[in-house]
Amino acid sequence: MIQTHYKEALQDPVFTTIAKAAAELSLESYVIGGFVRDLLLQRGIPKDIDIVAVGSGIDLARKVASLSPGKPEVTVFKNFGTAMLKYQDKEVEFVGARKESYNRDSRKPVVENGSLEDDQKRRDFTINALALSLNPDNFGLLIDPFEGVKDLTSKLIRTPLDPAITYSDDPLRMLRAIRFASQLNFTIERRSLEAISENKKRIQIISNERIVDELHKILMSEVPSVGFSLLHKTGLLALILPELTSLQGIEEVEGQRHKDNFWHTLEVVDNISGTTDNLWLRWAALLHDIGKAPTKRFDKKIGWTFHAHEFVGSKMVYKLFKRLHMPLNEKMKFVQKMVLMSSRPIVLSEDFVTDSAVRRLIFDAGDHVDDLMTLCEADITTKNPRKQKKYKNNFHIVRQKIEEVEARDHVRNFQPPVSGEEIMKTFGLQPSREIGMIKDAIKEAILEGEIPNEYEAAKAYMIQKAKSMGLIE
Ligand code: ATP
Ligand code: MG
Repeated sequence: MIQTHYKEALQDPVFTTIAKAAAELSLESYVIGGFVRDLLLQRGIPKDIDIVAVGSGIDLARKVASLSPGKPEVTVFKNFGTAMLKYQDKEVEFVGARKESYNRDSRKPVVENGSLEDDQKRRDFTINALALSLNPDNFGLLIDPFEGVKDLTSKLIRTPLDPAITYSDDPLRMLRAIRFASQLNFTIERRSLEAISENKKRIQIISNERIVDELHKILMSEVPSVGFSLLHKTGLLALILPELTSLQGIEEVEGQRHKDNFWHTLEVVDNISGTTDNLWLRWAALLHDIGKAPTKRFDKKIGWTFHAHEFVGSKMVYKLFKRLHMPLNEKMKFVQKMVLMSSRPIVLSEDFVTDSAVRRLIFDAGDHVDDLMTLCEADITTKNPRKQKKYKNNFHIVRQKIEEVEARDHVRNFQPPVSGEEIMKTFGLQPSREIGMIKDAIKEAILEGEIPNEYEAAKAYMIQKAKSMGLIE
């Protein structure tokens, strides 16, 4: 058997310290999991390090801390038998080698102490079961009982044990399999994929927070449609995000068809992922058309319509975030806003663009106008090269126009040039509906381009408006 050593990769003092601590406690220790996988994939040196001790992981962590510069604090997770410490910029997690068995109702296994190989068996995938020895007799030796290296080379996600048992024991692994396939652009072995489909319903025992964590990682991968197609194919997507699967399908009435909005959506997500790493903008791309399923109608005169789908979709965003226990904060509001406004620039790009339409777009989108443009450009999925070119060019014109108009009129983060207080003072009014009406009229006049966004002009307009309302002579 060929033995492969990775001594050079373990030169960081953190590893020699762990090795020394393990020797003092007379136990074996190994680096395992994501660190080894990413090292072999040459994905850069990972910051997270997982260590297995054959013995107590917590004792090892404490010993390591006592030998480390600055004596870092050890965080112990007693229930899990793990401990964590920070070593310079690295996060190191320690666990004792264990053997696991599961019962059906939870992902919490019954745990006993075990050997390194027992511990490798309980790992989710062969590529995550790779270990490097930190022991003096074979420091740096790669220990790969399940042909994980071969799977790294052939880009395969495979479980060390029977996949049916692996996924049923801990259904989170179904999402992890799909997430790794998406992040690494790997294929999930056929038997694994079948086992995921068969066990899909067990996703119910996984917390929303963990599901969302994996969805984030899929969304942040280079080509997220890899992950979403697999979620769809295995039936998981219909359980997690039914709003998306409802978009699938093409209907035909009287010879008129609409596009398949599910596959279109995945294309938009892939497109936007080529231009932005903003997670929430990627979420907006994923959800931008969800209002199309409940609003779809066939009209004899105009064909397929999705009337007000942007509004309906933005309401659905709230419900979806709430259901998945996602933050209901400004991130959610941002996604809602993007969905609500997702058709606005398209209308502009189809037609002759007036300054006032651009001013309104900037006014409504505020600081998010660039993100909105990015979303709308990603929404161009036409396969007709002539149309593709035309739309792209139109968006380019809209973007230029946005810059020009904003430089001149400053309507992004619009602040009324005349305050409510000044209006009240000028006309001796108490807070009232009239104040709002005057303020609104000034804003409208600016957006329409009737007056510039300047104090003097706005004040003159205020007086004119007050006259026409009969407030002054
Ligand atoms: P990343 O940190 O990039 O998400 P990772 O593989 O390091 O990837 P972690 O969640 O940090 O993933 O887990 C560390 C290791 O623990 C994994 O490599 C794997 O060996 C094991 N592991 C994690 N979650 C599970 C699980 N649900 N079932 C079995 N083994 C797991
Ligand atoms: Mg990790």
